[in-house]
Amino acid sequence: MTTLGAASRARLTDLFLMLTRIQSPSGNERQVADAVTALLGELGIDVYEDGAGPATGGDTGNLWCTVKGGDGEPHLALGAHMDTVMPTDSIDPVLGDDGVFRNSRSTILGSDDKAALAALLHATELLKASGQPFPTYELFFTVSEEVGLVGVKHMAADALASPIAAVLDSSGPVGGVVSKAPSMRTLRATFNGQAAHAGLEPERGRSAIQAAARAIEAMQLGRLDSETSANIGIISGGVATNIVPERCVIEGECRGHDEEKLAGVAAAMVDAVQEAAAHTGVDLDVSLVTEFPAFTLTRRSPAVRLAKAAVEALGIRPRLMTAGGGSDANILNARGLPTINLAAGMMLVHSPDEYVSLDELDRLCSLVLSLIRLAPQFDGRLKPVGSPS
Ligand SMILES: [Zn+2]
Repeated sequence: MTTLGAASRARLTDLFLMLTRIQSPSGNERQVADAVTALLGELGIDVYEDGAGPATGGDTGNLWCTVKGGDGEPHLALGAHMDTVMPTDSIDPVLGDDGVFRNSRSTILGSDDKAALAALLHATELLKASGQPFPTYELFFTVSEEVGLVGVKHMAADALASPIAAVLDSSGPVGGVVSKAPSMRTLRATFNGQAAHAGLEPERGRSAIQAAARAIEAMQLGRLDSETSANIGIISGGVATNIVPERCVIEGECRGHDEEKLAGVAAAMVDAVQEAAAHTGVDLDVSLVTEFPAFTLTRRSPAVRLAKAAVEALGIRPRLMTAGGGSDANILNARGLPTINLAAGMMLVHSPDEYVSLDELDRLCSLVLSLIRLAPQFDGRLKPVGSPS
């Protein structure tokens, strides 16, 4: 079922094509930010930008604004990220006869997260054009989400005034509600051994690659249980076959929904590299970084109840989901702003086969309108006596 008319579908198509044609790899969101700011400006909405750009080596900060609808404080903050993964150098988005947007070239489409941008912007256009009062809400658009949620981490904790938030940044058909997402830690270990000629005097050398191999062999990797996983994803080292390698770097991660269990897995990975370095007689530099904390919102949480009600209002059955990765929602939840992550209709994201259908864009925009309309019932603020609950 789709719910918007032909004019809205045409406008969503234009917005989506305009946004995906702009290349915006992480740190280079300027053009998208300018397009978003200009469009909201035409609607009479003041957009603020913070200093996350210079602070993170990018050219653009996070954006946010309040869309005043006739009542008081904002009830809900709705967000999306402006950057995309690479490669972005040849994006030529087209809408096929089958009603599906794809990139006609062999790179990503960028529907992650421009499907969300298009839906949020058009929903705001519709509300502004209606001439009717609507509940006040906030919009926010972050930078460098794809490279470790860097933008949102630099956004001021008091930038948003809403009591609940939603980001539209999960793949899958509209109706998916991510209420649980894991924590992730990254590990980087640098082994520094001793170079020597591999044929003439190998006994003088201490092999950094051998140390790394021993460490990896000792690690438990892959799916460790239903909610924990670990991986070594990058290994680099050595310069020639006839030289005992002096340096080897391994990089990996572990993620899980239970912080305590995850701490144990991370500690075991660090133990493995330390033991291997000691055994092989090489020096070691190891760092373990918490990239984002886990979150769990219960079914009773107002953010989850709002999301379910808004999805149901479209005649779609809500699907509560557990994410395997992080999003801006992880950071906002950790700061005490209950934030759900909603499926935005995009499919096979981060790949050349990425696509999203116009029907899904239509449903996503309808979902945004539904969330805004219902938000006052779930924002936890006391209602004036006699007002409908
Ligand atoms: Zn995304």
